[in-house]
Amino acid sequence: MKILLTLNSLEEAMSFAIDLANTHDPMRDPVDSLADAEIATEFLRPLLEDEEDAARIGRDLRPHRDILRKAFLDLAAGLENDQSTRQRLETALESDWKLGQDDEGKVAVFPRQKQSAVKRLVSWSTLGFFALKQGAPERLRVCQSAPCEEIFHDKTKAGRQRFCSKRCGTRFNVAQYRSRERDTG
Ligand SMILES: [Zn+2]
Repeated sequence: MKILLTLNSLEEAMSFAIDLANTHDPMRDPVDSLADAEIATEFLRPLLEDEEDAARIGRDLRPHRDILRKAFLDLAAGLENDQSTRQRLETALESDWKLGQDDEGKVAVFPRQKQSAVKRLVSWSTLGFFALKQGAPERLRVCQSAPCEEIFHDKTKAGRQRFCSKRCGTRFNVAQYRSRERDTG
């Protein structure tokens, strides 16, 4: 029998990787929500110890967020990640983990708390990224309703989701309709 590690936090790591990459969003004001102390705090607070400064950690996460975002956009475009991105992600993955039990008594792998919060989050989100990449990279998408650039994981059965939300789909269709009207009008 092979020895397997069951990471029951893997789904959460995948979601966090996408959410973190989407903290840069041309549709929102401000575009960089990690640069905004209040939004960054709301986003990161549930993942941090009480005494940790979420606003500062948010700012410090931005260089990693940019790499992660680029890696996702490349994958969604069907491109391989370039060597520098691959190297930086490999470094980002390095972390000290321990095996233990979660709040419900289930076995899980945790990043050790003695590492800085930035390091823990960088490593965790990178784990999520690799889990998505190794699972179904063709299911990683970018919303086709410009200027939205939301990255999402297509979990539909057919696997043909093009927009991050209904709202974006509607906006796209309205824009298409209007441009046809102009062309024929
Ligand atoms: Zn969208």
